[in-house]
Amino acid sequence: DDDAAGLLSLLRAVPDHPAPGITFWDITPLLGDAGALARATEALAVAAQALPGGRVDLVAGVEARGFVLGAPLALALGAGFVPLRKAGKLPWRTVRQDYSLEYGKASIEAHEDAVPAGARVLVIDDVLATGGTAAAACALVNRLGGELAGVVFLLELLSLQGRAALAPALAGAPVTSVLQTP
Ligand code: 5GP
Repeated sequence: DDDAAGLLSLLRAVPDHPAPGITFWDITPLLGDAGALARATEALAVAAQALPGGRVDLVAGVEARGFVLGAPLALALGAGFVPLRKAGKLPWRTVRQDYSLEYGKASIEAHEDAVPAGARVLVIDDVLATGGTAAAACALVNRLGGELAGVVFLLELLSLQGRAALAPALAGAPVTSVLQTP
């Protein structure tokens, strides 16, 4: 639709970043536009509310762009926020999840007490690429004792087929994205 096209037009495709052959979709022009930021966060909230399965207790955002989008999403949903951070950043006891990226390896961590038993947790990140990061986030939510409510992305890079890679980590939880590139 028009709004999705308008938001997509504010994304910048950067060739050969961070490595040759990879096109990086830069969302900072969208974040820097007040109206677009408001429309994007509203669209994320609408997409999250449309997911089957009911209430969301916590939004878990993946560092760093998942923080930017996740905090307003949590506010819109009346949920709390849990940061899923790069390894070594959190001050308290953590649970760590290792995973493979489109380019290299990485780890994310959360505080071991971040998710009350049985809390319903919605995972958010800016971009679904190969799906490895989101799969790790879902696995971490499960290990923390949460119930996965679903996963939402601002942008899904359809050519990388991340949903297929993500599927095993979902255990049936729904996935949605606001914007898609072919
Ligand atoms: P995946 O694990 O799905 O391959 O990669 C997704 C993770 O890497 C997300 O945390 C996302 O922020 C980052 N990422 C991968 N590709 C892109 C991209 O083209 N643009 C942006 N903004 N982030 C990306």
